[in-house]
Amino acid sequence: MDKKRILVCRFHHESNDFNPVLTTLDDFYSAGVYFGEEVLKGDSRGATINGLVDSLMRDDVDLKGGVYLNSPSSGGPIDNAVYEFFINKTIDVIKNLGQIDGIALSLHGATTSNKSQDVCGDILDVIRREVGDKVIISASFDLHANITSKILSNADIICGYQDYPHLDLYQTGFRAGSLLMDKLNGKNLKTVCASVPIIAPAHAYTTFNGELLKVKEYALDLVKQGKILDYTLFQAQPWLDVKEFAATAVVVAEDETVAKQVADHLINIEFNIRSFLQGDALYSVDEVITKALNNKSGKPIILVDSADSPNAGACGDSAFTLEKLLPFKDKLTSAVAITDVPAVEKAFNLGVGAISDFSLGATICNKISHPVTVHDAKIIGLYDGKFILHGPQERGQVEDIGKTAILKVGKIFIHLASYGGKADLAFYSSFGIDPLNCDLVCVKACTSFRAGYEPIAQEICNTSTIGSAGVVLTDLPYKNRPVPMYPFEEVSLLDVKKARRFR
Ligand SMILES: [Zn+2]
Repeated sequence: MDKKRILVCRFHHESNDFNPVLTTLDDFYSAGVYFGEEVLKGDSRGATINGLVDSLMRDDVDLKGGVYLNSPSSGGPIDNAVYEFFINKTIDVIKNLGQIDGIALSLHGATTSNKSQDVCGDILDVIRREVGDKVIISASFDLHANITSKILSNADIICGYQDYPHLDLYQTGFRAGSLLMDKLNGKNLKTVCASVPIIAPAHAYTTFNGELLKVKEYALDLVKQGKILDYTLFQAQPWLDVKEFAATAVVVAEDETVAKQVADHLINIEFNIRSFLQGDALYSVDEVITKALNNKSGKPIILVDSADSPNAGACGDSAFTLEKLLPFKDKLTSAVAITDVPAVEKAFNLGVGAISDFSLGATICNKISHPVTVHDAKIIGLYDGKFILHGPQERGQVEDIGKTAILKVGKIFIHLASYGGKADLAFYSSFGIDPLNCDLVCVKACTSFRAGYEPIAQEICNTSTIGSAGVVLTDLPYKNRPVPMYPFEEVSLLDVKKARRFR
């Protein structure tokens, strides 16, 4: 019998519809674009692909690499030309291959373009039309995917990260590959989905404690018992502005009735915990500053500026917290970060030791925040921007935030980078700023920073700031979202879409 031929591709971008700066093909190229065999090579890029390839290689299959486009970070919607580039190249590969038995796609699932509210649905739809109904398509997603009817109608297998923060990239690829092989080998797998129009700000929950940990343990126990084969409870990335928008429970099982029962149960839990998922009330920046002024513990207070988190697709260029801190520049040792290329260039031109006035912030998008002027800032460090992450999540990996300048105004350290980076402890400590010695540290991230900061912090304060990843969702200018949708309107059990099978 001929070997089963499987095509592997990746298209990964998390879009933030409130960030007006389009993500271009050049942005993707800066992180590496690969074709053919290069797509399959295991290395640090895209651990999901590594899991996918490892699981598929356990069978004697004819594995083919297609196209790999990976955005270096979240950001504004993609230029639709990026999608066209990917889909045209992928269809060319499919035509050239002739026979294909299975396709494994590593996608994000919260991807929009300037022409489409559902780029991943479009990708699956076009590929499905090309290959016909018999080819098995397995797609892996981020936990923050917005699983649409177009995705469900075209993918046979859907697997998302079960962890948030996402520590299970490799495992998710492995699950998606294993289920693809099971289906190719004749197992009669059914994928079902139930949904409810609920979104939640990404800082407010994790799957490592609270209600979502209970859900994970319950569902994984069913997998362990063999009642179902796989589950994902997707929390749609909240900064999409799209018509079809919901939290979704996807379950894969051989018994369709059981799959539906479990998906219904998971989505009912989601409905019941909807207010918990919104998180606690936020502090104002002023309240956090007061906490830092009164804090005598010797450990820093962490001001979480998740609204401007580059990892959530925001610009990272807001100087909002800096402006609030300036009146306390002689009282509080603090650290803030702003992505600001013009200020970095100015600092490099002046050199270390120079003292100057700077206009900081709002250089990527001037519609969300405004520039803030600092007087007599001293340039205390200039760097190429490469540093090694402390982890624990990505310990040892090199992060590159481009040319970076450190300014000091009074006791405030201002970290100016060319692009946003992971809010790892090393983001500051590699540039001469020790978070442990600060009274207050501003962190532009949602949840990823916690593993590093929780052990050193006196208190972590989710704070009301401004940015395109704003955490007060009801303040954001949604135009397309469904009505009703929680937390904008109350929803009832009548708004829950019971489990159904699309393929
Ligand atoms: Zn995510």
